[in-house]
Amino acid sequence: MTDLVIRNAVVVTCDAQGTVISDSGIAVENGRISRVASSADLEPLAANARQVVDGAGHILMPGLINTHCHAADSLFRGLVEDLPLEPWLQTVWKAEGAILNRETTHLGSVLGFAELLLSGVTTVMDMFWYPDETVRAARVLGVRVSTGGIFFDPPGVTGHDIRGRIAAAERFFEEFGEAEDVFPAILPHGTYTVSPENLRIAKSLAERHGALFCTHAAETRAEQADVTNRYGRSVIRHLEHLGLLDARTVLAHCVHLDDEEIAILARTGASVAHNPMSNLKLASGFARVPDMLEAGINVSLGTDGPISGNDLDMWMALRLAATIHKANSGRADVISTMEALAMATSAGAKALDAADRIGSLEEGKCADMILIDVRRPHAVPMFDPTTHLVYSTAKSDVRHVFVGGKQVVRDGTLTRHDIGETLAAVDRLQPKIAASIA
Ligand SMILES: [Zn+2]
Repeated sequence: MTDLVIRNAVVVTCDAQGTVISDSGIAVENGRISRVASSADLEPLAANARQVVDGAGHILMPGLINTHCHAADSLFRGLVEDLPLEPWLQTVWKAEGAILNRETTHLGSVLGFAELLLSGVTTVMDMFWYPDETVRAARVLGVRVSTGGIFFDPPGVTGHDIRGRIAAAERFFEEFGEAEDVFPAILPHGTYTVSPENLRIAKSLAERHGALFCTHAAETRAEQADVTNRYGRSVIRHLEHLGLLDARTVLAHCVHLDDEEIAILARTGASVAHNPMSNLKLASGFARVPDMLEAGINVSLGTDGPISGNDLDMWMALRLAATIHKANSGRADVISTMEALAMATSAGAKALDAADRIGSLEEGKCADMILIDVRRPHAVPMFDPTTHLVYSTAKSDVRHVFVGGKQVVRDGTLTRHDIGETLAAVDRLQPKIAASIA
């Protein structure tokens, strides 16, 4: 029996051909897409489906995939401003140290994931302390998450040494390694905060469990200089030298790369998570995204944490990714709307090694999809839905969100969680957060 039919929509599939089908929809069975077809062809299935949604006046597309985030940092939104990365990080870490425990990490994660889900993000790669709380928070709302053991050589929030980090990562795999809604990962913070030896341990742990490996890389010039001074190699060369780059590696940022480093990434198959909002606000620079795409590197998109961009707006990331590189290169023809949209969907799926399950609306894939209202003053007329999604759509246009065929946002409201409770809890914590950096 068909569980769900959505019809009368403009379907932007985000498949490899960029297929767009007007007056059409999809059918869902057991959480998977069973048909992508015209509204007329879906009629017989709709007659017997458990749920039928009228998509008239809407674009139906796959849920967005945010490949770099620190959702729980939502608690520190707007707390530290107008500093470059290094002094900014020192202040942020002071606040995190004073505030974060299991309970507050859960609270901040629910806050961040609620924002993401309401704006149409159905999968997020998140790097944070207490990753098991990250998963529990994601499950409160119904968003898929990629996370796992954190590696960071200083004691950090949890106070673990390397043995403690390994044990925590192993516990995470035990608890969530087989879960359908989790893409397990190992996430060392960066080459300037994790020793070569511990990076190797992290990678071997990821390999043993078939997990993803994600780290910050080449975000700032200062980081490149620091790592080159310490190890005699730039960040990307250092990572390659340690044997850490392959198709299951996700590198956040990669702002400062030379030609040879771009060739290394292309050759090894590592993905780059591009975070334009964060790079702009922290003055990190302009990643060479057009050159990376030309070299064949898989470039996905991320919001980074809400303290380096103040919110988790993937539509903003999408629009910035499609525009800033035009200005920076002086070429209006770099990064097509199709390439930009792929960065927010199918490239994200590829980065998470999950292109067989998510990232496009195709038969057999998970029914992770969103409906976007296009009958609004800023959305009419619509000549090309892809252009519309990249340049005109705002997060508030997302009306309905489905993950695995289950409706998790209805008419712009979460179906599984009363967000009022979360907002009130954050309000109660706010004075303590403000005092943490005083
Ligand atoms: Zn980050």
